[in-house]
Amino acid sequence: MTDMPTIAMGDGLPPMSRLGYGCWRLADDPDTSPSAVARKIRMCFDQGITTFDHADIYGDYRCESLFGAAMAGDPGLASRMQVVTKCGIMLKSPAFPNRRVKYYDTSAAHIRASAETSLKRLGVEVIDLMLIHRPDPFMDHQETAAALDALVDDGLARGIGVSNFMPSDFDLLQSAMKHRLRTNQIEIGLLARSAFTNGQIAQLQMHGLAPMAWSPLGGGALFDNGNPAVARLSARLAEIAGEHNVMPEAVALAWIIAHPASIMPVVGTNNQERIARIGDSLKVGLDRETWYELWTLADGKEIP
Ligand code: NAP
Repeated sequence: MTDMPTIAMGDGLPPMSRLGYGCWRLADDPDTSPSAVARKIRMCFDQGITTFDHADIYGDYRCESLFGAAMAGDPGLASRMQVVTKCGIMLKSPAFPNRRVKYYDTSAAHIRASAETSLKRLGVEVIDLMLIHRPDPFMDHQETAAALDALVDDGLARGIGVSNFMPSDFDLLQSAMKHRLRTNQIEIGLLARSAFTNGQIAQLQMHGLAPMAWSPLGGGALFDNGNPAVARLSARLAEIAGEHNVMPEAVALAWIIAHPASIMPVVGTNNQERIARIGDSLKVGLDRETWYELWTLADGKEIP
């Protein structure tokens, strides 16, 4: 295992790895056998990546079970990892034929049932971090807060966080909770920079909490040369990559890691060669001017 730095998540939670692996696309891989999933987990471990991000809905409600099957076949895996999962989105899905519309459910009953189902599907004794997947405009914050506190008090989750919340959503939920929220998982990357200026990252810094960055490579959009921002960025990313003997995606991840807020990129590739190189991003140090150079290329104009 390499010397992967960790991120402190606060009392009662294990530290998480500086980089995380996201399981949203797990079911898209042509090989979803337990041995193939276990191989990916071990490739992450080899680099010190021990934090795995899930949601009940990933893979149309299948990814947690695929991951759980891999862990059932290799019981040594679970004790070495931290598991993050999410609840609150009700997908229109063949799994729920009577559902008329996609909606959010942050009711106490749904949160409890969702945590119990995720524990079963993943085959773990406790969820390290349970996130509310998206802000729910219909949220009864008192009810949601009590249900989330109870997950911790009753030993189903070690900690609670949110995802895609604006600071006002975060503050509302936190105001009714006994336990502290531990993170906000948001879209952050060279192609998604708004969290740096809209208060989402600032709020977490103020509370001493590490943001989690979803789709840190733009969900693959960072490699689409038809995208004008990519056309501007790619030569410079390749040049910096060459200087460090890494691939350009390592530089894009390093751009997130360089920020002082201790942002954890959650990387989602299914490609084994790319999985094996996720940790390369830690070899790349970017100074302030280079950070702004990449921002400027991504934005297409000089900062104000
Ligand atoms: P990502 O790492 O930005 O994108 C992964 C995608 O980019 C894959 O399709 C991958 O294809 C492609 N890719 C990576 N490197 C590439 C390269 N060099 N050339 C071409 N394509 C490349 O992250 P993501 O998968 O979108 O999201 C990561 C995780 O964030 C998810 O698994 C999930 O855990 C989390 N997430 C959370 C939310 C939320 O609302 N909280 C939303 C979205 C995602 P290959 O597989 O072929 O490499």
